[in-house]
Amino acid sequence: MSRSVVVVGGGLAGLVAARHLAEGGADVTVYEQRETVGGRVRSRRRKGCLLDVGFQVLLTGYPAVRRELDLEALDLRSFKPGAVIARPGQRSVLSDPLRDPTAAVDSLTNSEVTMTDKLRTLALRQDLSTREFSRLLERPDASIRAWLREWGFSERYLSNFVAPFYGGITLDRSLSTSKRVFEYTFKALSEGGTAVPAEGMGAIARQLADRATAAGATIETGEAVTELTPKRRHAVVDTDTDRRAVEAVVVATPPRVAARLTGVEAIPTEAVGCVTQHYRLPGGPPLDTGKRILLNAGDTAPNTIVPISEVAPEYAPGDDLLLNATFLGEAAFDTPGDALAETTRETLDAWYPERNFDDLERLGTDRIEFAQFAQPPGVHDSLPDVRDGGRRTYLAGEYTEWSSIQGAMKSGRKAAEAVLEDV
Ligand SMILES: Cc1cc2nc3c(=O)[nH]c(=O)nc-3n(C[C@H](O)[C@H](O)[C@H](O)COP(=O)(O)OP(=O)(O)OC[C@H]3O[C@@H](n4cnc5c(N)ncnc54)[C@H](O)[C@@H]3O)c2cc1C
Repeated sequence: MSRSVVVVGGGLAGLVAARHLAEGGADVTVYEQRETVGGRVRSRRRKGCLLDVGFQVLLTGYPAVRRELDLEALDLRSFKPGAVIARPGQRSVLSDPLRDPTAAVDSLTNSEVTMTDKLRTLALRQDLSTREFSRLLERPDASIRAWLREWGFSERYLSNFVAPFYGGITLDRSLSTSKRVFEYTFKALSEGGTAVPAEGMGAIARQLADRATAAGATIETGEAVTELTPKRRHAVVDTDTDRRAVEAVVVATPPRVAARLTGVEAIPTEAVGCVTQHYRLPGGPPLDTGKRILLNAGDTAPNTIVPISEVAPEYAPGDDLLLNATFLGEAAFDTPGDALAETTRETLDAWYPERNFDDLERLGTDRIEFAQFAQPPGVHDSLPDVRDGGRRTYLAGEYTEWSSIQGAMKSGRKAAEAVLEDV
């Protein structure tokens, strides 16, 4: 008789777990409370445009991404390495001369960052290329700011480039996040591409769901799990409409829900969030960033502006330009959508004095309170293991690794392997 397993949550971790469990011969049901799978990685259509939840990208250098996804089938649209550092009346490209020779001259002559800092970046790149991804979360920890200062990087480099760029990745412009997150993402950015699927980030979750169902898993959407009752020989799973006894449960919800369902205190529940707005500029024309994001070096709001349809033309119809802007910090959550949109328009007007942004049309505002769990230095040392859920209960989710697509997928696979080994 095959082993019965319920996976709670159809985000990336839950979908990866379901696939490996089903491939291992288990009888798997995924309960996902929303009508669609993907959790924090979803997309929707608005006025012919494709809007992801917030601004997210796929780093193809992540080991779990290479292992779990058919990247070719995702039809990826790639960003160019680096970014455009913007301030009123001034825009300059800072790229990786080793990966983007066409921008080498611009990068080497970019006056936002000193030559010494550019050379240190190459040394850091070399240092990380000799280390394995699997060991990075075990290294001694410090804040990104303290660690880069220790490496000798200047305050100017930190504020002009690192704060908006890595602050955009960690959703923490103060750079107080664990440097392990910096190391992992820096290495992945150096060794792989940065991309979005032509059909939006949600296509990643759809592919994982298709792979799970092809392996034999059942995915029930619109069905929330309300309670878990582990017993010695089985676990009872209550949903909105049903009750089942199964041999094992994999809890792949966001961390706060996982903490509530399991009572495991080691699950991190503190959050970092962001507010992302999506805009259409009818008829374009392009912003001349050459498929790069714009970093706000002159101010903090918005932190970044991304001409996403220049990277993936499928995101907007015809010649329209689709942009998104991300605001970090608490204040953005209390600011009305029209005021945020006005800030973006004023910022674009200042960065591009030669252009007019009066036609900028706001398509949506994502206020994401729990985008990632907070990752201060040392946090990864106390995260729970996939086996720490208690009797018959396993944990899967970024919160057992680190907050990222990589962390979620790796955790899903590890949880499935643990269940198949134990049950
Ligand atoms: C705005 C934003 C930007 C980000 N940028 C990046 C990036 O660029 N690169 C990167 O690698 N990572 C990024 N991340 C982080 C990454 O998206 C997450 O770490 C990852 O998707 C988490 O996956 P998960 O499966 O662990 O959890 P989730 O995606 O949260 O999935 C949990 C699932 O459980 C479901 N659920 C909740 N409660 C119940 C219940 N009671 N019953 C049934 N189902 C339930 C939820 O609906 C959800 O589908 C970003 C996240 C956000 C939000």
